[in-house]
Amino acid sequence: MDEKVQRAAERIRAAERVLAFTGAGLSTESGIPDFRSPGGIWDRYDPSDFEFDKIVRSKQARRKYWEMSTAFYGTMRDAEPNPAHLALKALEDMGKLTAIVTQNIDNLHQKAGSDPERVIEIHGTAFRVSCLGCGASFERDEIEDRLAAGDDVPACGACGGILKPATISFGQAMPEAALAASFSHARGCDLCLVLGSSLVVYPAAAVPMEAARSGAEILIINRDPTPLDSHAGLVLRGPVGVVLPDIVRRAAKVS
Ligand code: NAD
Repeated sequence: MDEKVQRAAERIRAAERVLAFTGAGLSTESGIPDFRSPGGIWDRYDPSDFEFDKIVRSKQARRKYWEMSTAFYGTMRDAEPNPAHLALKALEDMGKLTAIVTQNIDNLHQKAGSDPERVIEIHGTAFRVSCLGCGASFERDEIEDRLAAGDDVPACGACGGILKPATISFGQAMPEAALAASFSHARGCDLCLVLGSSLVVYPAAAVPMEAARSGAEILIINRDPTPLDSHAGLVLRGPVGVVLPDIVRRAAKVS
């Protein structure tokens, strides 16, 4: 592992335009469970209950969705960035990082001090709520206060439409501009760091694939194997909150 960490540090030193692609595994060390690991969210809930169509069609489905989402949001609101988030901020300070494309909805990159302009949230954010009718946007805490007061399926105060956390559910359209910007960064980077993602959720997982196709080197840090491992120049299997800071520290020393 030590030799791989050193090689990874040298790749970062040699790179000019680094893209970080992050997933739920980056935040497990902040106490936020991922979806697919044992004990993850999908061990506790059935993902098919939260498909976009069901949420739109049924008030009962929305009640269940808010119940799950409120519990998950409480964990995210209280979470702090871990050394992996801080290592990405350090990489930005070294002038290497062009963008962070994140599947995470937990705001921890911004909380770690990463430039919000460089953080592309392709699955949205849990910290805002949108109206599916008129597009109005609300602070999450404002809606959580209504839920806590007993309004268990809140509706839009402006138009009466359906309110939903500003995250992308299964079957919901992706934010087009964010996705286009992500692919553009993927085509422009010379090194793509893939951090804590199973790479099975599409179209998000196509972003690092596009970087690989465009000739960028791929460096993966993930506990479990991913479908992109065979295309990666380096795969490190370990806790990203330990491995990434070690790599970035060494890259800073040699640069
Ligand atoms: P995933 O749950 O499919 O995969 C997480 C991967 O991270 C797994 O392969 C696991 O082996 C690895 N992992 C877990 N902890 C790790 C650690 N400490 N060090 C290294 N590797 C670790 O997550 P995904 O690929 O991001 O995709 C699933 C969806 O999950 C995304 O759409 C995202 O929106 C959503 N999600 C986000 C959060 C969050 O915002 N923190 C949490 C749960 C799920």
